[in-house]
Amino acid sequence: MKEEILKKIEIRQGDITELQVDAIVNAANSSLLGGGGVDGAIHRAAGPGLLDECKKIGGCPTGEARITYGHNLFAKHVIHTVGPVYSGKPQDKYLLENCYRNSLFTAINCNVKPIALMHHNIKSIAFPAISCGVYGYPIREACEIAIKTVANFLDEYWGIDQVIFILFSEEDVEVYKETIKWL
Ligand code: ADP
Repeated sequence: MKEEILKKIEIRQGDITELQVDAIVNAANSSLLGGGGVDGAIHRAAGPGLLDECKKIGGCPTGEARITYGHNLFAKHVIHTVGPVYSGKPQDKYLLENCYRNSLFTAINCNVKPIALMHHNIKSIAFPAISCGVYGYPIREACEIAIKTVANFLDEYWGIDQVIFILFSEEDVEVYKETIKWL
């Protein structure tokens, strides 16, 4: 991987709700009305204002992304994306790639909106291991998709200075750190 891209990517252990970044990504479900895992943690930390804003959006298809404000979070925004439920079929990979790419597109599209209404100026963004909890995606496969898709995006598009992959467990951190070495 190119040095300039590697410099923008960080792999960390921790709780995504505690990060002070421009946007954190939520591994949501398609209703966007909250759930378990990282989704539940984000809604708890953000407070009821987040749910109110999500209700107005009215859902999100798998692989797509929607943006809200961060409400009581340290993060200014939440980008909600819906990962695939792991099935072992080729479409899983395509949908998971879409989650990472569309989350990043959502971030930079907001940066360039010419009218100040939704001018978010997102430069730093943090991702959890989308689909790797209840949705059952094997961490090694998902991690390769996550890192490759993000790196390709950073190579192609301007505007994002920092991407943090934040993992709950030390084991997942090791998987990410090993994987990034050979990509
Ligand atoms: P999915 O339904 O997409 O599988 P989950 O929330 O069940 O989403 O899990 C996604 C990943 O997020 C899992 O690896 C889980 O360990 C991790 N996770 C759960 N809570 C947090 C948190 N507060 N911060 C960071 N990662 C988290």
